[in-house]
Amino acid sequence: MPSFKIPEKGADAKELLQRMESFKSKDINWPEGKFFGYVFYAGEDIYNVAKSAYTSFMSTNGLNPSAFPSLRKMESEVVGMTANLLHGDENVTGTMTSGGTESIMMSVLSAREWAVKNKNMYGVPEVLAPASAHPAFAKACHFFGLKYVEAQIGEDFRVDVAEMAKLINPNTILIVASAPQYPQGVIDPVEAVAALAKKNDILCHVDCCVGGYLLPFLEMGGVLLSPFDFRVEGVTSISADTHKYGYAAKGASVILYKNKELRKGQFYIKTDWTGGIYGSPSFAGTRPGGAIAAAWAVLNYIGSDRYTRMQTNAFHTTRKLIEGVKAIEGLNVLGNPDATLFAIASEKYDVHSIADEMSELGWYINRQQLPPSLHIFVTDIHVGKEQMFLDDLQVAVKKASKFSWENFKKNVQVGAVKGLKKMLPPSYFNQLLDRAGKSGGGADGGHRKAAMYGMMGALNGTEKLEELVEDFIDQLNSPEQSEDKGVE
Ligand SMILES: *Cc1c(COP(=O)(O)O)cnc(C)c1O
Repeated sequence: MPSFKIPEKGADAKELLQRMESFKSKDINWPEGKFFGYVFYAGEDIYNVAKSAYTSFMSTNGLNPSAFPSLRKMESEVVGMTANLLHGDENVTGTMTSGGTESIMMSVLSAREWAVKNKNMYGVPEVLAPASAHPAFAKACHFFGLKYVEAQIGEDFRVDVAEMAKLINPNTILIVASAPQYPQGVIDPVEAVAALAKKNDILCHVDCCVGGYLLPFLEMGGVLLSPFDFRVEGVTSISADTHKYGYAAKGASVILYKNKELRKGQFYIKTDWTGGIYGSPSFAGTRPGGAIAAAWAVLNYIGSDRYTRMQTNAFHTTRKLIEGVKAIEGLNVLGNPDATLFAIASEKYDVHSIADEMSELGWYINRQQLPPSLHIFVTDIHVGKEQMFLDDLQVAVKKASKFSWENFKKNVQVGAVKGLKKMLPPSYFNQLLDRAGKSGGGADGGHRKAAMYGMMGALNGTEKLEELVEDFIDQLNSPEQSEDKGVE
């Protein structure tokens, strides 16, 4: 029997809210700003506008626009404002979705439908993307039965276009560039990728999930960037997340297409259902009106002057952080980040141990792999916190570089895994992973993840790693266990 059930008698509303507040005690303390990614917070006034708009439309449903002309108006205005921002012409159109992943999935689905109508294909349609592209593209191919092909990235972490050209074949339907890509924050050579698409008569999607409401304002603020949007010939769709640098409420993104024909590919219609003729514009059935309303309100509330100020401030903070990181002996920054995302690496220290030490100082930092690095994602909340971060980083580097039994244990574990991985049955790996999480944690109960990451790195590319991660996600999503496992 599952361990939870709906209480027989309903609880008191006030008491419930208090209990829920207490649930938050172990969450990231996001108004404090000692984290990167996940939450985009730019001050109480913007937050309150989003909150009021969201709650006011919380019960509305964007599935059927004729029932809610209010949502239809706001959605088409958000799409229109975004198309304008990204230099679309009067033919550019789109829809709102629940987030970047759904926007990307829609672009892949519409490409498949476009190919069915317009291309002679001899096999499974292929989507070609940089190895640095967001996993949503691979996820889309997995969902829609397409083949996902990855092009390697160059020394500068931008996609290698010559390699892309080699991978194009008659089954390729869509190629992808990111502006910027997430891991190292660089903008792919969008012009060259789009030209390649045009030459081969296929579609080109630019993933502006992060950049959509960021790069245009950086340009307005005088930052020089290589072209990334509909100004580039050959670009046929763009995704832009209102819930990232738009600072809107979660559950809001925009997918834009060069024309109406392409957009039709993401619609689904069933005319013979006994419940009536059913049509839906995107993945979801019921579409939460609150997210649409909050996006509309926030874009109008902030306005382009304030966006320009906010985003350029974040850009200058990023420059200061990058300079500061490079000034710390043994640390470096990967590539030449174009905007407000970057990755800290080191040839001297184990960066994952540095992240562990940073978490002792209250910072929550995402670990990356291939190569190992720490992901920094600068938003409005970090402006003015540069010195605090750099001082803490300096302390963390010193602590991580010292000999300690903790570090020694981690290295032994990683080394052991490298040697043993071929010989051990999967069940043993599960135990090992579990123990690594705990023993690496020492006294602080699971905050130390370097050991686990080292191990994941050693196992990388094997099927076992996939199994381990699958088990891990399974456990995280089981209510009995979720309390005492760290989420990564
Ligand atoms: C965040 C992100 C996505 C996916 O967006 P979600 O809203 O998390 O689904 C896609 N591409 C890039 C570059 C991103 O940073």
